[in-house]
Amino acid sequence: QWIYLNGSYVQKENAMISVYDHGFLYGDGIFEGIRIYNGNIFKCKEHLDRLYDSAKSIMLDIPLAYEEMKSVLIETVRKNELRDGYIRLVVSRGPGDLGLDPRRSPKANVVIIVEQLAIYPEEAYLNGLKTVSVSTRRNIPDALNPKIKSLNYLNNILVKIQANLAGVGEAIMLNSQGFVAEGSSDNIFIIKRGIVFTPPCYCGALEGITRAAIIEICQKIGIPCKEEPFTLHDVYVADEVFFTGTAAEVIAVREVDARTIGEGKAGPITTRLLKEFRAVVEVDGAK
Ligand code: PLP
Repeated sequence: QWIYLNGSYVQKENAMISVYDHGFLYGDGIFEGIRIYNGNIFKCKEHLDRLYDSAKSIMLDIPLAYEEMKSVLIETVRKNELRDGYIRLVVSRGPGDLGLDPRRSPKANVVIIVEQLAIYPEEAYLNGLKTVSVSTRRNIPDALNPKIKSLNYLNNILVKIQANLAGVGEAIMLNSQGFVAEGSSDNIFIIKRGIVFTPPCYCGALEGITRAAIIEICQKIGIPCKEEPFTLHDVYVADEVFFTGTAAEVIAVREVDARTIGEGKAGPITTRLLKEFRAVVEVDGAK
């Protein structure tokens, strides 16, 4: 397995960075998770745009120009000979001293890992996941903007820990005002009377690329889709609930906080959206 590390391709066991890296010391950095379908990088432009926007927002200089980064991504995928998989692209502030000052970390670290993906079993897409809401709150733009896909994932990890304790695969995070924000690493959608809803990003959701793809598919096939704030009550009484994400794709939810959603399995609109999404990745992935 070849890892891209600052201009070189190295084997996994040799891929190492300094303990003074500020990504390690302070979570100072950004990342992307990207899918490879049929040997092609899915939504490459969208992921690179989000990466460079995140970098700009936190004043992190990515040492590769946009087009260079794209070539390196393609080369890393090619070297690993994977037709279907997952790419983790990480840019950290780089090695510095023990102080916070980013001026002392003049050279960012760039790492690209390509791996096979362990996703949910196919059964989960048919039967849906059980999920719970958790007490961890998503920070909304008074703190770190959730649009920045930063290496500060402690909030999300606390959500995952609460999900693990509840014995479920994914959980629902609210924002500090009590509106639904997203999952630990997925966006959330609900469906009521044929209308699809997802929280606007200002509610504390990452501007997910799968989320955008689903909104686009809804428009294309004529299913009304609205970005509107909603509460847990709306989730409990929804006809269908699903999560979206690069790794999860479109995964139905069958239970939230012990309330059965709809028929207790993937509903008809979720099933249709998953089918349409898989058709898009087939075509775009084959480009
Ligand atoms: N929300 C968070 C916090 C995430 O980490 C992710 C995963 O990337 C998502 C949502 C889903 O976004 P995307 O569809 O771009 O993978």
